[in-house]
Parts: sequence; structure tokens; C-alpha cells
Amino acid sequence: MAATIVADPIPQLLRQAFGFSSFRGSQEKVIRRLLGGGHALVVMPTGQGKSLCYQLPALALDGLTVVISPLIALMKDQTDALRARGMDAATLNSSQSAKVRAQGLEAIRQGKHRLLFVSPERFRKAAFTAALAERKVSLLAVDEAHCISEWGHDFRPDYTRLAEFRRMMGNPLTLALTATATPEVQADIRLQLGLDESSMPLFHDGVERPNLRLSVEPVHEADEKEARLAELLRGEKRSAIVYFALIRSLEDMSLRLERAGLRHMVYHGRLPREERRRVQERFMADPQARVLATNAFGLGVDKASIGLIAHAEVPGSLEAYAQEIGRAGRDGREARCVLLYDQQDLLIQMEFAEWANPSPGYLERLLTLLRDHPQMARDGGLDWLRQELVFNGRFDFRLETALGLLERHGVVEGDLERGDLRVVQERLPHILENEESAQLKKKRDLGRLHDLVRYTASSDCRHVFLHRFFGAAPGKACGSCDVCVGA
Ligand code: ADP
Ligand code: MG
Repeated sequence: MAATIVADPIPQLLRQAFGFSSFRGSQEKVIRRLLGGGHALVVMPTGQGKSLCYQLPALALDGLTVVISPLIALMKDQTDALRARGMDAATLNSSQSAKVRAQGLEAIRQGKHRLLFVSPERFRKAAFTAALAERKVSLLAVDEAHCISEWGHDFRPDYTRLAEFRRMMGNPLTLALTATATPEVQADIRLQLGLDESSMPLFHDGVERPNLRLSVEPVHEADEKEARLAELLRGEKRSAIVYFALIRSLEDMSLRLERAGLRHMVYHGRLPREERRRVQERFMADPQARVLATNAFGLGVDKASIGLIAHAEVPGSLEAYAQEIGRAGRDGREARCVLLYDQQDLLIQMEFAEWANPSPGYLERLLTLLRDHPQMARDGGLDWLRQELVFNGRFDFRLETALGLLERHGVVEGDLERGDLRVVQERLPHILENEESAQLKKKRDLGRLHDLVRYTASSDCRHVFLHRFFGAAPGKACGSCDVCVGA
């Protein structure tokens, strides 16, 4: 009897639809698991190729693949890139006009599209869930899945309703993806989705690429920092990012470096939108671009040849640190990641923990201002609000984080800068009203900072430490970090 040889469609799809010759890391295992009907949780470094884990199955499955992502700004780029490769992808989001959205809904109802990118907020809209109900959802992909967990560093309240959304779609096959989840967050992701370890196994490729040369260097005060940064920047032939926690210290260092004749750009949240866009574009285009930035610089920075990521001030958590260094060395070449550690700077992060968790009383006063004086808020913007809310005459960022919190929790919609911010819920949700949960969150933020301090002080290989921290098999010492080489 002649054996029938059935060609394996997976490598063929990889080549034909994506033009890749081989899989990276766990990609193939994840894809085979999904196509065999099993859920999966994937932890993979940024830039390694998490998207392929749902894009390829989306082509092989017969229904719709719904991708949930918090990054509205990137959805259009993602769908455009897929369309350019001939895939039928679409997005529905709040940055589109009502007309475009209505057409999008109609297309979904009519059975068009294989891949649909939406933010979790979309599920608040009845018209969307109604349109989706008419489709068979074959795969639900939850990107940036760590946002689901209150224990994670970037919690998004809308993500906690994912189990409910999943049920709405008939509990489809589910893939959760993230670059940074501790074991605690991994467990929470499964729990929030109504799955467990046996139904949703973990595929862990580590959180940072092995080609990153990690080091922590103690420094004291701005002069020492300046000298070291200048040396690092001069020695770097490819692009570089220097991260700061405070805009104030970023600007100060920018002046110093300028005086030292080191050309660079700056990027932070207080620059006008247009300027930020320009800086980002120039950064992407210039092979030797240098930028001093706050963590506002990052989303969508997908540049292959970043050779240096320095932290001039400590970040607030190892999760944030892993995300930020994950932007270096995507070309596979060795890249340096230097954390300049000044113990003084821990105070900044401790203050951030304070600011990031405004008390219910503060939120209540902000909501009252927005509700009772919408016109004043629109005309006066942040300055007016800050003036009204001033605490002991101290300038702080509580207002920005408080506005962000109200938005994330669906209390306000729109944008203050654009002049269309409105109150859509008259009261604070329970979780924000509760003094105890604000305290608990602050404690957790400080705990994350403590983990970062443990990292700086550890005598273990940096990679081994990070692997263990994020629940991957620790593996061998890297042989190239400052601890390994005994620097
Ligand atoms: P992540 O979401 O993990 O940060 P992406 O999915 O955006 O990463 O992929 C990063 C880059 O890697 C993309 O340019 C993608 O086309 C590329 N890529 C993904 N998988 C492969 C592969 N198997 N071979 C070559 N390139 C790949
Ligand atoms: Mg991604």
C-alpha cells in the first residue's frame, strides 16, 4: 500500500505568507499547540516575534482571529503591515471617525476580515459586541497580557473583563502574550481568563535577548553621571537611548551634554504631540540617532540597530527595565544596557509610587472639578486643574496620573489637550474610592522598586537573575555581564 504523504502546511505558510525561512524560539511549538486546539501563554522578549504566534494560525483557521491590544496607536501600523503582505486585517478603534467605524462594523457583520485588532475598551460598545456575535471567533489573542493583572506593572482595568468578553465570543481558543510577566502575573493571567496551568501551558523564551550586555554601575551625582554618559555615547556607533525618570533631570543632562558637544534629541510627555512625532521619526531614520527620553519614548520604537540603552535614573520596576532594554540589539548584535545607579534616585521612584496612587480624596476633588466646571477645565487645561488641586503648594505629577486613572477606569473620555475631555461616569468606581486598595497598590509599587534594588545588588549573573525573576529556567551564566566578567 502506498503511503500518502501529506505536506506539512505550517512551514509552507511561514515561507509563503511571511517570507521567513525558520521559526524563532517557541514560535513553532506555540503555533502547533494552537492549531491542535490548545490554549497557550507565551512569554517572549520584545522583538522576537510574538505576533507570528497568532498571525500564522489566523491564516490556517477558518473563523476570525480577534487580537486585543492596549496600544491603539500601533493598531493601524500593524494592520497596514499585514495588509501590505496580503492579509485581510482590520482595526476598530476610538481614533477612527464614526463613519469609518460604522463601515468597519458592517464589514465584520458581513463576515469580512481574518484578523481584527481592538482595544478592550471596544467591548464597552454594544454595537461592537453585537457585530462580533454574528461571527465565529476561532482565536482570541491577548497581546500585552500582563495588563490583565493588578500585580503587573501596567494594569488596565478593562483587561479584567476579558473572561467575560471571552464568554461572549463562545470561549474560543485563547493565546496570551507578554514580554514581561513574573510567575505571579502569569498565574493571574490564567486566572483572569478562566483557565489554568494544564489548559494553558507556558511557553517561556526569557524576557531579554542573550545578546544584551547588562551592567549596573554605581554613580554619584550629576557630574559623575554626565562624565559616564558622555563616554558611553561617544563610544557608541549605533543608535542610543538614555532613559530618565524625571523631565527635570533629563533637561539638565541635555544642557550638559550639549555643552560637551554631544548632539542628541530629547523626548518626553510634555513636548507637543507634533514635536514628539518628529523626534520619533528622526530617531527611526538616523542610524546614529541619540535620544534622551522618559519612558514615554518606547511604544512603537521598533528599530533594529539600537546599540546602547542607558538608564540615567533607575526605573520603577524590573518589568519596566526589561521592557526598556528589550529595545536594544534587535539586529542580533551585541548591545550594551547600562544602569547608572545612584541610590539617591530611589527617592524619585518612591515619590512616583506616591503620585501614581492618588488618594480617593484627591480623585474625588478632581472628578468634581471636571464635572462641575467642564468649560474651565477645557480652557485652563492642566495648569488650571493643578492650581485648583494644589497640595501644600507642591508641584507634582499626581494630576497626570489621576487623569490617567479616571480614563482607564472609564470615568472620563476624550483628551484634555484636544479640548474634548468629558465626564461619563458621575461617581468613582469602587476600586478607586477605596483607601485600602490605594494603599495596597502603593505598597506593591514599592515592592517592585525593592526587586529592582535586589537586582542591582545581586552577585548572580544579570541574565540568570532576570530569568529567575520572570520564572524562566535560569540557564547558564552569560559570561558577559558586569557580574560575570567581575567588573
Ligand atoms: P514582539 O511582538 O515579540 O515584540 P513582533 O511580533 O513585532 O515582536 O516581531 C518583531 C519582528 O520580528 C518583526 O519584524 C517580525 O516580522 C520579525 N519576525 C518574527 N518572526 C520571525 C521569524 N521567524 N523569522 C524572521 N523574522 C521574524
Ligand atoms: Mg508585540
